[in-house]
Amino acid sequence: HELRTPLTVIGGFLETLSDIETPDPALIRRSLPLMSDQAKRMQMLVEDLLTLSRLESDANPGREEPVNVPDVARGLYHDALALSAGRHKVTLLLESTAWIIGAEDELRSAFGNLVSNAIRYTPEQGEVRLSWKSTADGGAVFSVKDSGIGIEPQHLPRLTERFYRVDRGRSRETGGTGLGLAIVKHVVNRHAAKLEISSEPGQGSTFSVVFPESRIAADTAATLKTAS
Ligand code: ADP
Repeated sequence: HELRTPLTVIGGFLETLSDIETPDPALIRRSLPLMSDQAKRMQMLVEDLLTLSRLESDANPGREEPVNVPDVARGLYHDALALSAGRHKVTLLLESTAWIIGAEDELRSAFGNLVSNAIRYTPEQGEVRLSWKSTADGGAVFSVKDSGIGIEPQHLPRLTERFYRVDRGRSRETGGTGLGLAIVKHVVNRHAAKLEISSEPGQGSTFSVVFPESRIAADTAATLKTAS
């Protein structure tokens, strides 16, 4: 259904255009951007579906190596500034120097989904805060807090299901595939981490990925101790 709709739109336009002997240039001008939007939509869907199926087909993270999470967070902070284009107050708080044992591309993609959601579901002038902190039990937590539209409690348990959306229109308008949090959930599970969501409608949401101590790269935990 998700792929069929954009295909139907593109197919419909092409059929109309090929039925007319000399198509009206204005009609062509109008339909090309619409077809191109639908093609982009399908492309994003296919990419997210491929990512999901890759994640589902093997149980363990791709290549396990120490991942410099503070660096990843800095990169995502710059992506967030670009995505927001000045519409939000974006901040980054790095309280931990810990690195995580895991797959860097997977972690970047999961954290990046949370960041892009925060920007997409937060109206102009709102705030988006990225943070990386240590936890009381020796682990670390990456959080994205926004002051956006928030989520009613009854939706929270279902958010990581494929194609589950609270507001279909809003997701579409902002270029959502409905697969972002399903991808996040897979990556989180593969890293023995936990996804925690807290949200209040009209106030905002916080999405946190909590890593256990066993995932912290040993030498970076030492850096933490000497730093504190
Ligand atoms: P989508 O591509 O639709 O954003 P996701 O899987 O990333 O798909 O998220 C699922 C749904 O969760 C979204 O459609 C939206 O309703 C809700 N959601 C996700 N992040 C936020 C957020 N930061 N604030 C409010 N709602 C959110």
